[in-house]
Amino acid sequence: MSQTRNLAGGKLALVTGGSRGIGAAIAARLASDGCDIWLNYRRRKDCAEAVADKIRAMGRACRLLEFDVANAEQVAGVLGPLLAEHAPDILVNNAGLSRDTIFGLMSDQDWGEVIDTSLRGFFNVTRPVVQTMIHRRRGRIVTISSTSGLSGVPGQVNYAAAKAGLIGATKALALEVARRHVLVNAVAPGFIETDMVGHLPMDLILPRIPLGRLGRPEEVAALVSFLCSDEAEYITGQVFSINGGIYT
Ligand code: NDP
Repeated sequence: MSQTRNLAGGKLALVTGGSRGIGAAIAARLASDGCDIWLNYRRRKDCAEAVADKIRAMGRACRLLEFDVANAEQVAGVLGPLLAEHAPDILVNNAGLSRDTIFGLMSDQDWGEVIDTSLRGFFNVTRPVVQTMIHRRRGRIVTISSTSGLSGVPGQVNYAAAKAGLIGATKALALEVARRHVLVNAVAPGFIETDMVGHLPMDLILPRIPLGRLGRPEEVAALVSFLCSDEAEYITGQVFSINGGIYT
């Protein structure tokens, strides 16, 4: 996808979990498309600052927002005052984590942390932001789901449930807000080269991927960029896989 095809220039984008991996790549890509960025992170301020420096070097503004998306009070405390003054044109719900283990051994914490980060995180952040979008009658919301939410993956009952839930939420919200020109889509990546997959056995995984390699965060970012561009005006309520062919 060429840069010239993206028409997001002059807009404001909020990216959750933007300090590392896919979120960092999405934030940098939207900045190169011309967006100013609100970059959320939870713990890794050092990484978030490095991403912000890169964005500012592109000539775009970047504001760091520290909150745990699963914590309603933290989200409201940071986003509330900002949303009273500004309205993002784009929201990318990217923050997520995995706590893989077989279901019989899964702890309450493993279940709760994964579900809360994805689903409460979606609720806590999207609800106040979509209100500003509805009011302005424009906006784009892209939520990062996963192949796991489509196919199910053993050892990921918590993660698959969370990511499938995000797909349902995406489809329902898209129907609610289409008439207000707010477009809501999901992206479902397969195995992407980030910290999240660092512990996985690549000798077992790579042979299962038809394209024979992991995806790059920048490749996911290019798809998100397209969904946020003016060229994607007729796309809402959809789920886009980007997975090297591992699940069709
Ligand atoms: P990483 O572990 O590399 O990065 C996760 C990011 O999310 C970090 O910026 C982290 O912040 C942030 N984060 C985690 N929990 C929270 C929270 N509660 N509140 C705010 N921020 C949080 O993950 P990836 O880049 O690989 O994953 C990004 C998204 O893509 C996730 O939703 C993941 O489920 C999804 N995905 C990833 C795939 C992959 O193969 N990598 C495949 C399919 C989907 P901090 O740095 O402060 O800890």
